[in-house]
Amino acid sequence: MRVMTLPWKFIVEWISAGEGVIRSVEKVYASSRSEYQEYLIAELYGLGKSLILDGKVQSSTSDEYWYHEALVHPVMLSHPNPRRVLVIGGGEGATIREVFKHCSVKEVVMVDLDYEVVHTCRESLSELHQGSFYDPRLELIISDGRKFVESISGVFDVAIVDVVDPIEGGPATALYTEEFYRALKNTLAENGIIVTQAVSPSLHPRVHAIIRNTVARVFRKVSSYITYVRSYNGLWGFVAGSDKYNPAELDATKIEQLISTRICAELKFYDGYTHQWMFSIPKPIREVLSRIKDYATDTNKAVLQL
Ligand code: SAM
Repeated sequence: MRVMTLPWKFIVEWISAGEGVIRSVEKVYASSRSEYQEYLIAELYGLGKSLILDGKVQSSTSDEYWYHEALVHPVMLSHPNPRRVLVIGGGEGATIREVFKHCSVKEVVMVDLDYEVVHTCRESLSELHQGSFYDPRLELIISDGRKFVESISGVFDVAIVDVVDPIEGGPATALYTEEFYRALKNTLAENGIIVTQAVSPSLHPRVHAIIRNTVARVFRKVSSYITYVRSYNGLWGFVAGSDKYNPAELDATKIEQLISTRICAELKFYDGYTHQWMFSIPKPIREVLSRIKDYATDTNKAVLQL
C-alpha cells in the first residue's frame, strides 16, 4: 500500500488503486510508528478527532458510531443471552464501549496486536473509548488475534472481529481466511455468533464477497450487511455468521423490543428502522455477491488492491 504523508498538513488516503482522498490535518495529538504500524491521532477537517493507521482513517469522532453500533448490535441482539464476548482488534476502544451497553454482558476479552496503539488511544482518545478500558468486566490481552483464537475453545457467546483491512503485508491478512474462521468458531460456546468488518462493498466488492463466502464455508447462516461511514468514503460492509442465529431474520419491531429490554445506554445510530436499512443490500452488491464464488485460505488470501 502507498502511504503518502505530507508533513502533517495533509494526509492522502488511498481508497483504491487509482483514487486518493486528501484530508487537511488541523491538529496532531500523537504520531509515531509502532512495531506493527504507523499511527496518527489528529483532528481532520470535516471528520473531527481521528485515529489513522498506515494512512487509513480507522475512526473519527464525527461518525464512528455509524460503524461501531452497526458492527456490534445486530449480532449481540441476535444471541439470546450474550454474557462472554470476544473482541479482536478494536484498538480505539469504541467496539468494547458498544458491547458494554448490553446489560447481559459479564466478561469481555479484547485481543489487540499493538500495545503502543492501544495505549496511545487509551491516553489520547477518551472521546472514543469513553472509559471502557477501565470497565472491570474487561480483560485486555496484547497478542495476535490469530494466535489467540487458536489457543482457546468453547468460551464465547459472541466474537467480534474489528481489525484493519486485509492489505498486502498488513498485520491482519491471516484474520480473513477459512482457517481463521474455523479457529474463531472453535472459541465459541454452543450456538455462538460472529461478526467481522468486511471492507467497503462499493470500493472493493470482490473482497467483500470473498469474506462473505469464506465465513459461509464455516457457518450455516451467513449475512452480509452495510452501513454508510463518511470517514470511510462511502458504504461499509460486515459479515455475520452462526449455525443458529441470523440478524437478517429479525424485523424492525423485534429489534425495537430487544433494544428496549437489553440495552442499558443510549444509541445514536442503530434502531429497528436502521436495522432494516442495513440488511437491505442494493442490487449491484447483491449481483456481485451472487456472481463471485471465490473464498480465502491461508495459501490464497484476498487482499485489497491499493
Ligand atoms: N474499524 C476499523 C477499520 O477497519 O477501519 C478497524 C479499527 S481498529 C483500530 C483496528 C485494530 O486492529 C488496531 O488496533 C490494530 O492494532 C488491530 N490489529 C491489526 N492486526 C491485528 C491482529 N493480527 N490481531 C489483533 N489485532 C490486530
